[in-house]
Amino acid sequence: MSFRGRLTLFFLLIVVLPMIAVGVLVTQVTNESGSAKADARLAAGLDAALAMYRDDSLAAERAAKRFANDPAVGSALRSGDPARIERAAHRLAGQSGIQSLVMRGPRGRRVATIGPGDAVATYELNLTDPSGSLGSLTASTKTASDFLADVRHLTGRDGALVGKGGAPVSSTLTLKGASPPPSGHSADVEVAGDKLRAATADLPGPGNLQLALFSPVESGGFFSSSPVVAAALVVFFAIAVVFVTMLLRMLGGQVRTMLDAARGIGEGDFSRKVPVLGDDEMAGLASEFNKMSDRLSAQMQELRRQQVEVDRSVRRIGEAFASGLDRQGLLKVVVETALGACGAQYGTIALSGHNGAEAEAGEPSESIQDVAVAAEADALGENDLVSRQGNGIYALASPLRRMSEPPVNVGVMTVARTGEPFTPAEREVFLYLVGQVSSSIENIALHELVSEQAVTDELTGLSNNRRFRELISKEAARAERFGHELSLIMLDIDDFKQINDTYGHLQGDEVLRMVGRVLHLESRGVDEPARYGGEEFAVALPETGLDGALELAERIRVRIESEQVARGDGGGVVSVTASLGAVSMRGSADGAETLIAAADAALYEAKRAGKNRVATDAPEPRAADRS
Ligand code: GH3
Ligand code: MG
Ligand code: MG
Repeated sequence: MSFRGRLTLFFLLIVVLPMIAVGVLVTQVTNESGSAKADARLAAGLDAALAMYRDDSLAAERAAKRFANDPAVGSALRSGDPARIERAAHRLAGQSGIQSLVMRGPRGRRVATIGPGDAVATYELNLTDPSGSLGSLTASTKTASDFLADVRHLTGRDGALVGKGGAPVSSTLTLKGASPPPSGHSADVEVAGDKLRAATADLPGPGNLQLALFSPVESGGFFSSSPVVAAALVVFFAIAVVFVTMLLRMLGGQVRTMLDAARGIGEGDFSRKVPVLGDDEMAGLASEFNKMSDRLSAQMQELRRQQVEVDRSVRRIGEAFASGLDRQGLLKVVVETALGACGAQYGTIALSGHNGAEAEAGEPSESIQDVAVAAEADALGENDLVSRQGNGIYALASPLRRMSEPPVNVGVMTVARTGEPFTPAEREVFLYLVGQVSSSIENIALHELVSEQAVTDELTGLSNNRRFRELISKEAARAERFGHELSLIMLDIDDFKQINDTYGHLQGDEVLRMVGRVLHLESRGVDEPARYGGEEFAVALPETGLDGALELAERIRVRIESEQVARGDGGGVVSVTASLGAVSMRGSADGAETLIAAADAALYEAKRAGKNRVATDAPEPRAADRS
């Protein structure tokens, strides 16, 4: 059932039904009072009618006595002549005021009858003389219909005379089977379609007659009998109808508005507001509804924000994959992710031992930075996650750990914001990111190590042949493109086989290490010393001419010669010499392979010339003498 239907039903139950009950009650009460009034009127009428009947009986007595006192009556009776009796009766009855007369002889035989047979209020008189009974007479001054006419005249009521058995004798109404109540009672009777009130009383004297009087019952209904109550009820009903109609409209309108707003919200439109009118329960409901809508709107916005954040995070994860082993790129992605995931305004991450490896995100104020820096110091000091607060600024900081035994701090990450502390969920995300970035950094370090190992000669720590070839190719291409100089020194240890054969391979290895050390120490930062293979070494010299190359080669040669390698068996030292070939790129067409071949040739030339010397492929080497 609709809201409106329920309200209407409610209205029917609390207004219409009670009003109907009141109407029924009032109608019943007024009906009863109508019957009571009618009964009172009938009782008064009966009293008056009975008094009149008694008067009529007395009149009949007087008339009978007057009639009987006339000597003519006695002589006529004594004569026994019916005609004479009849004549005397006719003559004297009129004079005595008798309307109806029945005379009987001494043996009860009717000897004269005058007037109609329906006489009422009769008087019976025995006629005697000294010789005995002469007979009797029954006289009346009124007929039944006259009596009822007089009663009607006197009381204004219709009447009926009925015999003891209930049979009507005379009536001013057409009774048609309707029978009045028994004597001494009153009742409703229906006469010719009219509802009448009737009351019956015994008439005194002979005849055993009863008089019934009829009165209409004042049952003009509720409205005519109780007009004030009826008017009050009508006014009340009208007010109730107006009130309920207004209420229905108002409530219906509010409910409709709320329904519209609810539908709007269901369709995702949170801008619709239910008007809050007054401060009743509906207003409260509307206000709560609006609050609920606002909360939903805020949550939807938060969801959208989180969705955007998830999108960003997915992108960052993609970037993280892309950044792969780029340490700086990784730090940037992680600190930006931490900023978004923790709802922070400022984030920073820094690694120890890697100069410049740090990243920042957000636009911090100075005070936020101060709290972040303090939290960072605390985290490193306490070696654990810390949260710090100052002037309404909250910061979270945690060391980044390498999972060795014991764990080693490799950096620190911090996020900070103003307003409210970080929630447990945000701390959890922060710690998760700290864990992830720690292992990523470790992975990068491992990868770098492995990469380094792949291009490093294990024995000497110099670049290996592979790295050397990459480098010399790159440098040769660069030198060709930009017209830079590029030189190359090739070195071969003299009589190395003999060292091995004499002192063993381990000693040979020591000699190799010593040569590597010398090359490393004598080279500039941009030079790339490498172990070319076996006991042969190479040094690429970018942007260096032949003079510089020869100078360095000579320096190396001298230093190797001066180095003494302690013998493994403790039996003194081993001296070593080396032969070197130094060449430079002369023309733009020269490639790396040509350069290597030239350096090799120069080296061969140095060996051929007696070892422990520097040679070049130039026609007149400037520094190739044995020192
Ligand atoms: P030359 O003066 O003409 O250069 O004579 P050499 O004995 O130095 O030349 P050779 O090419 O005959 O010998 C090179 C030796 O270097 C042979 C090899 O056993 C040794 N060798 C190569 N690599 C290593 C290494 O890693 N460790 C050691 N101990 N010996 C090595
Ligand atoms: Mg060799
Ligand atoms: Mg050699």
